[in-house]
Amino acid sequence: MSFQRVLEYAHKLVEERTNQGDIVVDATLGNGNDTLFLAKLVGDSGRVYGFDVQREAIAKTIAKLKIDNLDSRVECIEASHEYIDKWVKEPVTAAMFNLGYLPGSDKSITTKPQTTIKAIEILLKLLKVGGVITLVLYIGHDGGAEAAEVEKYLQTLPQKKYAVIKYRFLNQVHNPPFLIAIEKIRE
Ligand code: SAM
Repeated sequence: MSFQRVLEYAHKLVEERTNQGDIVVDATLGNGNDTLFLAKLVGDSGRVYGFDVQREAIAKTIAKLKIDNLDSRVECIEASHEYIDKWVKEPVTAAMFNLGYLPGSDKSITTKPQTTIKAIEILLKLLKVGGVITLVLYIGHDGGAEAAEVEKYLQTLPQKKYAVIKYRFLNQVHNPPFLIAIEKIRE
């Protein structure tokens, strides 16, 4: 069996911890691939809150969900994820970030370390014990500046409360993305 790709491994970590009826967050809707995955996981009784600053991403995500008739499980919010707690008040089982820009769109509209870190801080408070936050980070587009800053921040999380792992292929060409996952161990 070969090692899972970064996105597959992020999905596995979320799937293992999420049940029907749970509340989860997609912090970067983009083309809606992670949103669709989350909507299937939480079932009819669950809820996905999704955020993106681009109307185009919201529209693409809703269109993707409608194909499978899953749009009623998802609240798509056109806002920066640094304001997640304006909408999400309940404990969250999982949250996914896929950083960077919307593929095939304006590359200047991209996630930024300060707002990403603010969103992570909010989600760490909302996260249930045993819950997980996954982040897919890129080193291609900005030389890895955002990834480096986010990683530096995550290294400071207290190990008694959070387990933080990094999953990265060391020998792939063209700067492939890597994964960081945070599990809440205790309040
Ligand atoms: N998860 C997506 C998927 O499965 O298709 C891909 C996400 S894409 C790499 C990154 C997205 O983050 C873009 O759509 C971009 O508009 C969005 N974004 C940038 N800054 C943001 C912010 N502050 N809050 C929420 N979304 C943001």
